[in-house]
Amino acid sequence: MQTILPVEPVICHNLINGEWVKGEGGQPDVFSPYNGKKIGEVSLPSPNQIEIALQAAAEAQVSWGKTPIKERSQILFNFRNILLRDLDQISHLKSSECGKTFAEARAGLMKGIEVLEFALSLQNLDLGGKLEVSRGVTCEYRREPLGVIANITPFNFPAMVPMWTIPICLALGNAYVWKPSDKTPLTALRIANALLEAGLPKGVFTVLHGGAFTVDAIIDHPAVKAIGFVGSTKVAKIVYQRGTQLGKRVLALGGAKNHIVLLPDANAELSGIGISDSFTGCAGQRCMAASVLLAVGDVDRHIQKVIARASSMELGKDMGALITKSQKDFLVDAIDKAEKAGAKILLDGRKAKAPAGMEDGNWIGPTILDDIQVGSEAATVELFGPILSIVRCKDISEAMKIENSVEYGNACSVFTSSGPLADRVVREASTGMVGVNIGVPVPREPFSFGGINASKFGHGDITGHHSLDFWSNVKKITTKWETQADSNWMS
Ligand code: NAD
Repeated sequence: MQTILPVEPVICHNLINGEWVKGEGGQPDVFSPYNGKKIGEVSLPSPNQIEIALQAAAEAQVSWGKTPIKERSQILFNFRNILLRDLDQISHLKSSECGKTFAEARAGLMKGIEVLEFALSLQNLDLGGKLEVSRGVTCEYRREPLGVIANITPFNFPAMVPMWTIPICLALGNAYVWKPSDKTPLTALRIANALLEAGLPKGVFTVLHGGAFTVDAIIDHPAVKAIGFVGSTKVAKIVYQRGTQLGKRVLALGGAKNHIVLLPDANAELSGIGISDSFTGCAGQRCMAASVLLAVGDVDRHIQKVIARASSMELGKDMGALITKSQKDFLVDAIDKAEKAGAKILLDGRKAKAPAGMEDGNWIGPTILDDIQVGSEAATVELFGPILSIVRCKDISEAMKIENSVEYGNACSVFTSSGPLADRVVREASTGMVGVNIGVPVPREPFSFGGINASKFGHGDITGHHSLDFWSNVKKITTKWETQADSNWMS
């Protein structure tokens, strides 16, 4: 299905204490990457409005936190039904503002709903624990909410990334403050409205728009106990440092430069599909996209398959647009520089034609650069576009040395038919997530999502089981009701 852009501009206000409030800090336009046309306006809150919003969140959290998880889950069940009912509408809106194809936008929301299903299972699975540790003495642990928590999210997954945390944080009894990307505020409106319709009490969910100013005010506010961030490494570091200096809990996920190790014994057909789809999916604008192909030995027939599939992509149908014109210019410049430095251009996205009627959009085609030098920009910098840089390697040791030398640590994949060689890559990759014959190794729930190195600052993961301790407090209770007088080292 083709993306349907909004007919009228969508006005995105701030959700403060259950009401949509026009921001007093200005109202910039939002443009679609598809055709450069205005599709919305985003209203920015004033400092006073941010203060009112966060105070209301703190007040609302008190009774939400005391509501039993089974009751909280009923509202989240309603939320799931509403999202499924409105799946296509939300996906069109999401695709219009971030440039994804309709199918990609829909898949992202479905992945978010999978996290919601995990959160719904907590009422039956996350039961705490209790044990008699010495005669008449029990130890118990209980999970408690943190209070108000905030999440700051990027443009490239306007629904999936927020949905990594919204259901889990709400199920655990926190009040949730969302600062969506300033480039993609439209989806936020729909997700927040779905929560209101589901019956979430006012103030438990807050949306505040804007950039650094809003983020700083949220981090600094004493009511905000924990901060989740997903975005570039540059901003992840800023947010992590600001929050932790205030003694707050921060989990900040950053950028990536993901490698695929291609071995000559790999199935050429399947690796061609896996590698091509990994670097072209979401027009390369995802933190799990393949960026560098470490081509070990003679893998030319595999690379031909990658080229064949990538060159068959139709822009606007199989591959979406880039978020901004300046991002397109940055990518064209990066390809020019790589070419000047001696790269062979196996597929040139600079020449790709925009879809008819969308000439003012931000389009670039899949690009494959061969003979990229180790340490060059194309080999080390996160370009965030549909560009695959091929680095030729004589053996697997050289490939792993290159993989290990990059500052990021989100994902690494290997394509091979050898179990032991795959296992070597799994063991030696300096990443949080590894794929074997999978181009985009995103773990599905309940397995947690998260990288290492410059791809993540803070402890734990943002989804799945490993996120629960981050988004809650674990209270430990030691109790003695027996009246016997025996004493031991615990008495
Ligand atoms: P970004 O860092 O520019 O923006 C992320 C968020 O931070 C947005 O809400 C933005 O408004 C806000 N922000 C921007 N500048 C700020 C500042 N100086 N201080 C405080 N907040 C600020 O990222 P983006 O361009 O929206 O998203 C793309 C990046 O996100 C890529 O680097 C990509 O790899 C990364 N990403 C990472 C993951 C992951 O799981 N590791 C997932 C998705 C995207």
